Amino acid sequence: YDIVVTDLKFNDGYGIDILKRAKEKDKYIEVIIITGYGSFESAADAINLGVTSYLNKPLKIDEFSMQVERAIGSRIFHLRSVSIINHSDYKTIPNVQEHILDITSLNHITSKLMFSLDVPEAIQIILEDINEKLNSMYAIIGINYLNFHELFIMPKYGTLKESDIIQSILDNWHYSFNIFKKNDIIKEKVYTKIYRGKKHDECIKISTVKDCICLPMSILGETIGFIALFYSEKNPINEDRYQFFYVYTTLITSAIQHCYLDLLAKQQAKTDGLTGVANHRMFHEILERELARLKRINRQFCLAMIDIDDFKKVNDNYGHLVGDAVLIDLTKRISNTIRSGDVLARYGGEEFALILFDTDLGGAEILSNRLCQVISKTPLTYSEYEILYTVSIGLVDCNSTIALEKDIIIGKADKALYKAKSNGKNRVESIKH
Ligand code: GH3
Ligand code: MG
Ligand code: MG
Repeated sequence: YDIVVTDLKFNDGYGIDILKRAKEKDKYIEVIIITGYGSFESAADAINLGVTSYLNKPLKIDEFSMQVERAIGSRIFHLRSVSIINHSDYKTIPNVQEHILDITSLNHITSKLMFSLDVPEAIQIILEDINEKLNSMYAIIGINYLNFHELFIMPKYGTLKESDIIQSILDNWHYSFNIFKKNDIIKEKVYTKIYRGKKHDECIKISTVKDCICLPMSILGETIGFIALFYSEKNPINEDRYQFFYVYTTLITSAIQHCYLDLLAKQQAKTDGLTGVANHRMFHEILERELARLKRINRQFCLAMIDIDDFKKVNDNYGHLVGDAVLIDLTKRISNTIRSGDVLARYGGEEFALILFDTDLGGAEILSNRLCQVISKTPLTYSEYEILYTVSIGLVDCNSTIALEKDIIIGKADKALYKAKSNGKNRVESIKH
């Protein structure tokens, strides 16, 4: 076969069987799936099955023909390489086969990366691919770009122990091109993700590492990260592979940058520009998701609506810049008081919503009273001003035993807030479901 087009559901052995048989014949075969990416756990799962593109149902015929044409183009590109490799005149030139396979595999990784813009997924695809192509024992991608400080690590086979790998990075600091501060790694400020390699029943011994090759990932004169490949004594690095590693790094650098720009745009669409907390849209999304979850699992949480008291006076007395500084100060004080899993969102203006997980109304009242204290006790210092401000909080509880509607819950929290305002402000009132 050159191209396979098939419907595929994970539980349906039939489609997968066709795929496996086709791939046994030729791993560069083009496979188009007609159930869409949504039917896979991850892009990496689909790629491991050999899928090169997918289409959502209902099938649009013009999209389908375009995908088929793309597959034909890609297949012909590959077959041309194979035909050159097999041509008798070229066979005598040293390394020609390896070089042409490199060209084909660059085309292959490009199409794989078109599968997903999700950062951990795209990096998983890259690490898996590079361990395979360059036969490294494990590979690391480090990122220091925009506000992201992240390390992604994957062994070719087996698993890696986090403490070992962090120690190895610290011991071999020059591999990382100083894109992080050593201290940030020690203090776990760098997010670290360790993937499993193939046959993941055994653990790799880092102590057998002998060699490393490493390149910075640079784009427009800016270094956004590095990629490092580690080799064991038993399986040393082959020097000729360096050029390929260069070309490969150039190609994936722009793909990775693209993924991070997309991630940033998505994050910005969901956060409030002034305070950096979740915005109104994200709050509604989270609340909806949590309410749906409550119906499935036995859990509880509380919703708090927080409104600054007499905020108009702050603006009138000190100006809007100071008003903005108060809003930022408030989010900092709240964030420092709540648990890390709780969600704070700017509902609008000087009104904030807070979701407190795994807490009953009693617990939420204690926390809310503590918030009132934390806010009212110490003034905010802003240039020559000392601004003392207070908040009122309305609380409602949610749990699995009652049928819940988002609007009803927000309405009740608002009602409790109104009660706190009319009972004198700088206080907490709650409504029990
Ligand atoms: P209450 O105690 O009843 O809540 O009184 P209040 O003065 O806080 O009344 P209200 O909630 O009606 O007023 C909200 C004010 O918040 C109106 C507006 O001037 C101000 N505000 C809303 N968004 C912003 C913002 O982003 N920056 C600044 N500086 N002020 C804002
Ligand atoms: Mg107010
Ligand atoms: Mg208000």
